Amino acid sequence: MAIAKDIRIDLPPEGVPKKWYNLVADIGHMEPPLNPGTMKPASPEDFEAIFCKEIIRQEGSTERHINIPEEVRDNLIHLNRPAPLQRAVRLEKYLKTPAKIYFKREDMSPLGSHKGNTALAQAYFNAESGIHTLTTETGAGQWGTALAMVSNLFDIDCTVFMVRGSYEQKPMRKTLMQTYGATVHASPSAQTEFGKKVLKEHPDTTGSLGIAISEACEMAAKDPNICYSLGSVLNHVMLHQSVIGIETIEQMKIGEIDPDCMIACAGGGSNFGGFAFPLLGEKIKGKTDCEFMAVESKAAPSLTVGEFKYDFGDTAGFTPLLMMYTLGQEFIPKGIHAGGLRYHGMAPLVSAAMNKGLITARAYEQLETFEAGVMFARTEGMVPAPESCHAVKAAIDVALECKKTGEAKNIVFCMSGHGMLDLYGYEQYLNGTMRDSSV
Ligand SMILES: *Cc1c(COP(=O)(O)O)cnc(C)c1O
Repeated sequence: MAIAKDIRIDLPPEGVPKKWYNLVADIGHMEPPLNPGTMKPASPEDFEAIFCKEIIRQEGSTERHINIPEEVRDNLIHLNRPAPLQRAVRLEKYLKTPAKIYFKREDMSPLGSHKGNTALAQAYFNAESGIHTLTTETGAGQWGTALAMVSNLFDIDCTVFMVRGSYEQKPMRKTLMQTYGATVHASPSAQTEFGKKVLKEHPDTTGSLGIAISEACEMAAKDPNICYSLGSVLNHVMLHQSVIGIETIEQMKIGEIDPDCMIACAGGGSNFGGFAFPLLGEKIKGKTDCEFMAVESKAAPSLTVGEFKYDFGDTAGFTPLLMMYTLGQEFIPKGIHAGGLRYHGMAPLVSAAMNKGLITARAYEQLETFEAGVMFARTEGMVPAPESCHAVKAAIDVALECKKTGEAKNIVFCMSGHGMLDLYGYEQYLNGTMRDSSV
C-alpha cells in the first residue's frame, strides 16, 4: 500500500519562512497600550528602559511582513525547522472518528517547545544593539530554557526568574537552564525590591508569572546594558512565532488539507497566535471559514472567564497597560503542571481577535487534559507537554463531536512542546494523586 501523502509533511530547510507575518496589518482597530502615568498611548520611549530599539520597532509595527534576518533563519534550521506536520492516524482509529487529525510538531525543537522561535530573534536583535545580559521570567521552564540556550549563540548572559512553584516541582528544568549557562533564581526572590516585598507579605507563595515578570523587568530597568525578554503576550512575540503558521499553510497546501478547525493551547497566546494568525489573516479577507480555537486552563481562564479591559502585564505594574482579556493583575492561579498556562492575561492580539469574534475559546480542567495526553502517548508515541495536552484534549473533543454528526472535519492542532521533563505530572495522574484546580 502506498504511504498516504498526508501522513507526514516535511519542508526542506529552504522552507523556513523568509518573512514574519504581522496580524496587526489585517485585524483592524486595536486599543493601543497606555502609559499608566499619563493614561495616553504608550510611546516607544516608554519601552526603552527594558527593550532594545529594534524590538520596540517591531512591537509597534503595522507592516504586514517583516524580513527574517539570515542569521536568525540559519539558526531556526538548527532548531529543527521547518517542523513536520503529521497526521495522528492511530488516534483517529482509536476514537473511531470520521475526522482527520493533524498536528504541527513544535515538540521536535531540541529546546522542547515553540519558545525558541522568538528566543532566537530576541537574542539576535539584542546582541546587535550591544546588550550584554537578558533577564526573563519562566513558568514551567520552557521559555527560560529556550532563552538560556540561544543566549550562547550571541554571547549574551541570561538571568531567569523562575516561578517558585515550578522551581520546586521541576528541578530538572532548572538544571537544564544551568546546563545552558543561565543564572536561575526562584521567584519571588531576594534579588529585587519587588521580590523582597512579595516575600515579606506572602512568605509561602508559589509565585506567579506576573511576579516573575516584575522581577525581571526591575533588574533590566536598573541597567542600560541589560534588557528584558518576554516569552509571550506582546506583538513582537506573536510576530516571531508566525513561522509556525506560515510553514503549516505551506504543508496543508502540499497535503491538500483544507482545515476546518485549527487548535492551540493559550497561556500568553504565542503558540496560538503563531500557529493561527497567518491563516486568520486569510479568514479576515474571506478566503477561509476555518474555526480558530484557543484552549486555556480552567486555572487561568482569561478568555473564557476574564474581562476585556486595560490591565498590567505584570503584578507590580511596571509594564504599560495592555487591552486584553484578564483575570486581574493580582490574580495568582492555583498550581497546575501546565505552568505555561498560568498567566492572568492574554496577548492583546489574541484578545482583539476574540473580541471581534474571529476566534473561539474553551477551557479545561487539569485531569481531563492529562487523560488526553496519556491517550495521545499510547496511540501516537509522543508525550505531550502539559500545556499541549489542552490542545490535544480539544482536538479529541472536536473529533468526537464529528463522530456524532458524521462530519469528516480536518482538525489541525499545534503540539507546542513535549512532556519528557513533565513526567512527575504524568506520575501524579497515573497514581491518582492529581487534583483539578479550577478557579
Ligand atoms: C509556554 C508554553 C505554552 C504557553 O505559552 P503561549 O505563549 O500561550 O504559547 C504552551 N505550550 C508550551 C509547550 C509552552 O512551553
